[in-house]
Amino acid sequence: MRPAAHAGRPCRLLRFRVVTELLPDFPYHPDPVSTSVVIPSDAVCMCCGRGRGYIYTGPVYAVDDLADRLCPWCIANGDVAERFDAHFTGGTGLGDDVPIEVFSAVDRRTPGFPAWQEPRWFFHCGDGAAFLGRVGAAELADHPDALAALRREVSGRGRPPGQVERFLGALDRDDQPTAYLFRCRVCATHLAYADAT
Ligand SMILES: [Zn+2]
Ligand SMILES: [Zn+2]
Repeated sequence: MRPAAHAGRPCRLLRFRVVTELLPDFPYHPDPVSTSVVIPSDAVCMCCGRGRGYIYTGPVYAVDDLADRLCPWCIANGDVAERFDAHFTGGTGLGDDVPIEVFSAVDRRTPGFPAWQEPRWFFHCGDGAAFLGRVGAAELADHPDALAALRREVSGRGRPPGQVERFLGALDRDDQPTAYLFRCRVCATHLAYADAT
């Protein structure tokens, strides 16, 4: 016998699925709701013309003004990219060179993220890395591999060690400077870069 506490759980899940269309799968931005670029909204999508309960609030590079007017489903299936010639990154990658199809999957079919400068995406082991979110010093403490890479990168700009540590200590998820955390989809290494205005 299963404990009574578990008995009702599948039922509640089922009811939740009936009212909410499941969000599409974004391999390079696995949880766009937690990173706040996809939010619950009644707004109508400019691409499919439907109000589907969620809207994308991140950056879009296109001639048309598509800000806060796209649903995640039209981003995932490539309709937005095709219809509006839209891109979701500034076009600059970090890390490995990758085949154009890989870059295109990130740039054309993946929700972007807001940054202080034009956002950049990490590529590692020949694939796009998964964006995990904006992070500060507190969150980076859980990812020593990303912190070490960031320290090497900042030191490489010729700053003295004291200044590097002050910069890393000042990183803030909600205020500048901010770091952007990724995880390689192949080797699972965490990667990060930082920017400010
Ligand atoms: Zn749509
Ligand atoms: Zn890797």
